[in-house]
Amino acid sequence: MNIVERLRCNEDLTDTELAELLQTDKYDEQLRIAADAVRREHYGTDVYIRGLIEFTNYCKNDCLYCGIRRSNRCAQRYRLTKEEILECCQEGYALGFRTFVLQGGEDAYYTDARICDIVSAIRRNYPDCAITLSVGEKSHESYQAYFDAGANRYLLRHETATPEHYSQLHPAELTFPKRRECLFDLKAIGYQVGAGFMVGSPFQTMEHIIADLRFLQELKPDMIGIGPFLSHKDTPFCDYPDGELALVLRLLGILRLMHPRVLLPATTALGTMHPQGRELGLQTGANVVMPNLSPQSVREKYMLYDNKISTDEESAQSVQRLAQAVERAGYCVVTARGDAKTKN
Ligand code: SAH
Repeated sequence: MNIVERLRCNEDLTDTELAELLQTDKYDEQLRIAADAVRREHYGTDVYIRGLIEFTNYCKNDCLYCGIRRSNRCAQRYRLTKEEILECCQEGYALGFRTFVLQGGEDAYYTDARICDIVSAIRRNYPDCAITLSVGEKSHESYQAYFDAGANRYLLRHETATPEHYSQLHPAELTFPKRRECLFDLKAIGYQVGAGFMVGSPFQTMEHIIADLRFLQELKPDMIGIGPFLSHKDTPFCDYPDGELALVLRLLGILRLMHPRVLLPATTALGTMHPQGRELGLQTGANVVMPNLSPQSVREKYMLYDNKISTDEESAQSVQRLAQAVERAGYCVVTARGDAKTKN
């Protein structure tokens, strides 16, 4: 058996074999076919949709890659009120969304009390929906409080599992051990947890990517978010090249084979880098898309990287068009909550 067949049979490849798989295009077609077969075994043609509500772009952090880092004076800051967030949910629910993802910068305005208040209001209004939070690093107590208020899932990308590389992407206050602790806290509390990393981030090597794959094997997250690094003009990484489509797709395929039941989004960054990016992702093992439910007026302000798709195709209002694109790619958007099948 060659390395793709062995991965498909759940065998653990060596680092050298993973490096070989990552560095050549000769297995790409075989990898795509195997990843697609495995996703169909577990999920059929289902594609889950998540309504993304980007509720604040204030952030106390200064991640070197990110367009909403606190040092970016050019970013026009905004916050959504609880009422505005609930309106997004209402609109989303009518469109068929059964998962709401509240994502934002690490904004001290949203105290634990405010976050819990918002989460419990959504929980009361939409008892049949999943609530996902993505608001960065918090204490175990805070995570527990959000969970008790009704949150079910949490997205916190590990960004890179190599501590030295982590320090090259983040200011000194942020460390990989802390990030790792947060992810394990979230798991222990009972969240469905999403980790992940950027592909092609500055200084990233094959060894770093292999460390990311090993970390994911250890964490066993329910969701894995990966997408290309895309530069933002008002950040220190403005001159670094974007990640490569082929490598993102290769990694999606590998991740589907290594984590057969994981929820794997075809991310906005993937859709931004190539007009067919998301469809290609879906054909290489991805089974989730996360259209934007934020009010039109703030969408262009949540600019993590340049040219982020924020209008038409990305809007939930065009969910119909998205569904058609998904169908053309060979899959079907479903309204189910789409919980992780990784738990049992
Ligand atoms: N504050 C939250 C949400 C961060 S934004 C948190 O800390 O989890 C969500 C993700 O966008 C990040 O985890 C990062 O991986 C990604 N991201 C940020 N800047 C990016 C860039 N320039 N290119 C690609 N992805 C980026």
